Amino acid sequence: MVRYSIIHEKNPREILLLRGSGCRWRKCAFCDYHLDCSTDMEENDRINQEAMSHVTGVYHHLEVINSGSFPELGAGTLQALVDLCKKKNIHTLHFECHWLYRDQIAPWRAAFSRVGTQLKVKIGVETFDAQYRETVLKKGIRETDPASIAAMFDECCLLFGLSGQTVDSMTHDISLGLRYFERVCVNVFIENQTDIKPDVDVIRAFTENVLPRYADNARVDILLNNTDFGVGAKEDGHEK
Ligand code: SF4
Repeated sequence: MVRYSIIHEKNPREILLLRGSGCRWRKCAFCDYHLDCSTDMEENDRINQEAMSHVTGVYHHLEVINSGSFPELGAGTLQALVDLCKKKNIHTLHFECHWLYRDQIAPWRAAFSRVGTQLKVKIGVETFDAQYRETVLKKGIRETDPASIAAMFDECCLLFGLSGQTVDSMTHDISLGLRYFERVCVNVFIENQTDIKPDVDVIRAFTENVLPRYADNARVDILLNNTDFGVGAKEDGHEK
């Protein structure tokens, strides 16, 4: 598994894909992405230390993703990340986090802030249509007001390519994301082992009518493939 990568373009940063205990939520209807995990935290720490050894601090900017939320990385890996940020002079660190861990964000913001690192926490809202999000996607975000979500999280992910989405709905989601959050990451849905299937017409509508509008926006990342950040593919070149 490729666990280290560098993005040189928009928002240049190093990226780590680390392994944690696994997503505690595990109910999102579209997701089978929570398979890269283990309850053997010692082995996770060892794998994560190896991945972290590649970080140079070249951009003083690091993003950590895991198949779940950052608290699931465990105290050992999180403390190692604090030490790494201090050693490599990382001024900004991005984490991903589910709504259910929102109370754990503030203490970790403080811990990283003590070594000079600003934490940016990203939530997968997928869409601001709360009814669709909760009844179809089963995201488990009780809050419907984007401003209230943004009061705790800095960045959001959106998921496009689902039946029912339109150019207007996708544009509206990105607009709300940009209004309330510092950054927006758009993921285009790729077929996986869940019952939810990508809608090719929606994906075409996105690539033809929505993507061109935001492709050069420095606050918008667009992932047409879930390995576009350069991590997550197997070392032999095959996707996981
Ligand atoms: S919170 Fe993330 S990892 Fe967990 S089920 Fe949902 S999308 Fe998958």
